[in-house]
Amino acid sequence: MNYVFGPVSSKRLGQSLGVDLLPSKSCTWNCIYCQLGRTKEFVTERQEFFPKEEILAEILDAVNSGKPIDWITFVGSGETTLYKGLGWLIAEVKKVTSIPVAVITNGSLLSDPEVRQELLEADTVLPSLNAGSAELFERIDRPAPGFTFEQHIEGLRRFRQEYSGKLWVEVMLVKGVNDSEAALRDLVAVLSEIKPDMIHLVLPTRPTPEGYAPMPDEDRIRRAVFMLSSAAPVNHPAKGEMTLGSAADLLETVSGIAARHPLQERELQAALEKLFEGESAKVEQAMAELFSSGRFEKVRQGGELYWIIRS
Ligand code: SF4
Repeated sequence: MNYVFGPVSSKRLGQSLGVDLLPSKSCTWNCIYCQLGRTKEFVTERQEFFPKEEILAEILDAVNSGKPIDWITFVGSGETTLYKGLGWLIAEVKKVTSIPVAVITNGSLLSDPEVRQELLEADTVLPSLNAGSAELFERIDRPAPGFTFEQHIEGLRRFRQEYSGKLWVEVMLVKGVNDSEAALRDLVAVLSEIKPDMIHLVLPTRPTPEGYAPMPDEDRIRRAVFMLSSAAPVNHPAKGEMTLGSAADLLETVSGIAARHPLQERELQAALEKLFEGESAKVEQAMAELFSSGRFEKVRQGGELYWIIRS
């Protein structure tokens, strides 16, 4: 197989059959976190890099192989929508299978009406948005000359208006680059305007060839989840479990955690249940005493109840 790989297990898309439409690396951006290394030469013109009939034949072979496939995912060794036959491929796949289709894209070509039109039949589109300001956009995504932040946002905004499938915006959080409160505030402002169905917070978990995309601290990730939740539900990789150590100084421990990042109420409850194993009355009492200390207030965001330090 030249174009199709998998199905591979994906946290977001289950058993995902990948379809790579591009010669490596063909991209409009040169992101600091790119797994494919530096973009040596920008590609900005759409082309049918490989015959679309050959790609379709491979997809159909994989679909007919009987392997369980949850999603057919168009993704590229670069920017997926640079492939000119993408709309045709999505339409042809839709004629022969009910397996949903996803397109992973950096979103840089969404200002082109033809690209937006070609994506309309996809069940979900996952464009990137890593910055809420032109300055950060340039710093993280390092686009080809002529690809501006304003154009990127306008493309996303227009696509949201025209597209009735699921729009899942992907935000890559990079330590020291876009994980500050100010950067997240800017992102929230833009995301609130775009109104995605979901935000997928992703992290630079693997070393990058260029080596400058460090992983944010857990506290920053949790704060990002909290802040971004005000724009849309957030699918995130924050580690789930919190431990409280001992019952002594519970108020100080919980205050310390809440000072670093908003605390999900159900996580706090679960941590107390672990601490007071089998003694539900003590859990209830501890929750009540903590809250009545007056140090916290409760905020509902993204369907979750959080405890934050009272300002
Ligand atoms: S958009 Fe994707 S392929 Fe292009 S440089 Fe960024 S991470 Fe790499």
